[in-house]
Amino acid sequence: MKRGRQLCSRCFFCEREIETTNHLFIHCRVTEKLWQVFFNLRGISWSMPRHTSEALTRWNREGNLSDHKERWKIVPVCIWWTIRRERNQRCFENKSIPFQSLKLNCLITFFFGVTMYSPKRWRILLSF
Ligand SMILES: [Zn+2]
Repeated sequence: MKRGRQLCSRCFFCEREIETTNHLFIHCRVTEKLWQVFFNLRGISWSMPRHTSEALTRWNREGNLSDHKERWKIVPVCIWWTIRRERNQRCFENKSIPFQSLKLNCLITFFFGVTMYSPKRWRILLSF
């Protein structure tokens, strides 16, 4: 933290809500858009629970029903990694990127996560 800067508990994305884990990782409007990318890819409708732990439990339970369990289960990590990294850039370096770049970063993280887990099956990303 830089000297003279006020501690800020507001979300660095929406600047409206108090930054909590639940807000940052599942309820912030920016984070919700990233979740929506994967809901759309999967063709599902989803209502977010109140807490991050519930979201993860439900997500994994749904993933166990999927034909692509491995890919499904890394989605929260990809979203949270992307959000956390961008949040820290905004907080500590006073830098931000547009949402389209954030979305691209998240999808790239997902791509590398899938290919690390299953490098020979990267083409199945197309059938997510
Ligand atoms: Zn927010």
